Amino acid sequence: THAPPDHAGVRDRRRAHFGGNLSLTYREPLMLMRGWRHHLFDEWGRVYLDAYNNVPHVGHAHPRIQAAAADQLRKVNTNTRYLHPLQTAFAEKILSKLPDSLQVCYFVNSGSEANELALRLSRAHTGAKGMITPDHGYHGNTTGAVDISAYKFAKPGGTGKPDWVELVEVADDYRGSFRRDDPDRAAHFADLVDPAIEALQARGFPLAGFIAETFPSVGGQIIPPEGYLAAVYAKIRAAGGVCIADEVQTGLGRLGAFYFGFEHQGAVPDMVVLGKPIGNGHPIGVVITTREIAQSFDNGIEFFSTFGGSTLSCRIGKEVLDIVDDEGLQENAEAMGTRLITGLEGLARRYDSVGDVRGMGLFLGVELVDAQGGESPDICSYVKNRMRDHRILIGSEGPKDNILKIRPPLTIETDDIDMIVETLDKVLAEVALWQS
Ligand code: PMP
Repeated sequence: THAPPDHAGVRDRRRAHFGGNLSLTYREPLMLMRGWRHHLFDEWGRVYLDAYNNVPHVGHAHPRIQAAAADQLRKVNTNTRYLHPLQTAFAEKILSKLPDSLQVCYFVNSGSEANELALRLSRAHTGAKGMITPDHGYHGNTTGAVDISAYKFAKPGGTGKPDWVELVEVADDYRGSFRRDDPDRAAHFADLVDPAIEALQARGFPLAGFIAETFPSVGGQIIPPEGYLAAVYAKIRAAGGVCIADEVQTGLGRLGAFYFGFEHQGAVPDMVVLGKPIGNGHPIGVVITTREIAQSFDNGIEFFSTFGGSTLSCRIGKEVLDIVDDEGLQENAEAMGTRLITGLEGLARRYDSVGDVRGMGLFLGVELVDAQGGESPDICSYVKNRMRDHRILIGSEGPKDNILKIRPPLTIETDDIDMIVETLDKVLAEVALWQS
């Protein structure tokens, strides 16, 4: 028969077999059976525009990824204890996109693992443990990554901030302490690092480093004012720490104008962390660092990951980065992102519920607000779910969950962008109606 899988049945069995804190997106959860470029298809074959998922960076089910993976699985898939030209080819492709000071790659299997390794590298290099990180950040689901993720440890049920961690206010110039009318806001946000360094030292934790999502995503799709990270990095280095850029969400051309977010900030990190999009769905994490830091870590204990840097992972990772170049996807991100921001700004002028539109390329946030300008999670949830009814998938984010998160595969096209804006227009008109 051609009957689709039983939606309700799968949902019930999922409840029976999995932990209760595994969440489902949307009031009416989706069952997705197929993907193609920036589209997804449910169990009935109904099509959805995927304007949310950043993992399928070059598009769902890309034929070149299918072919590369199948071919490599036929040949060999083994680990980094054997030589293979694909390992060095993948490393060289990544390094070709990075500043010259970043020279050494470590391959792991996820963003969490990569951040975990970045913590070990910073401790090995500095002999210290203290870490500074912006509030509301997310770096992964492992013990060490949760310890530096306020988004997790500060929640009810979280274990709280560890002694060796100090938080600084996220550089949000829409809602934070220093706003867009202040030309020195980048320096003012960066100055918040000084007391954080002192607080760590006073508690007996000398500084190992600073880690931040280059553009904070779970913090609310924030673009820090230009020069913020450069100023922070200078302070961190002066205090003996290393600077880690988590580019899991921002890297690989998504920003359009920049291949990596730190380029916009005029800053060069000591470590870059990559994940999610670099495997287009295949699990890959990478840490890239300086020769000096790698030498400190090369202290007699072997570094090995069974699957990290597998022949298959290197083949897929290299193919993804090649596709970004071959298909001009960074340029497309810039063109489509500009078109979308322009459309969204038009909506912001017409609807009071749109407080702010921000972002770069295909990394965008729309902050939804109540009549007083306060965060409105209710409007955000309504809009997100109504967009889903119209079969356009977007997410929500931010400390109060009132920021629409738009982050499609880089293959998205003009008609799709226009459909997002037109549909959002209709949904925001509904919000205006129930507000009046
Ligand atoms: N860093 C950032 C910025 C992320 O967004 C995520 C995942 N959302 C991670 C790290 C963790 O990656 P993973 O889920 O692959 O372990």
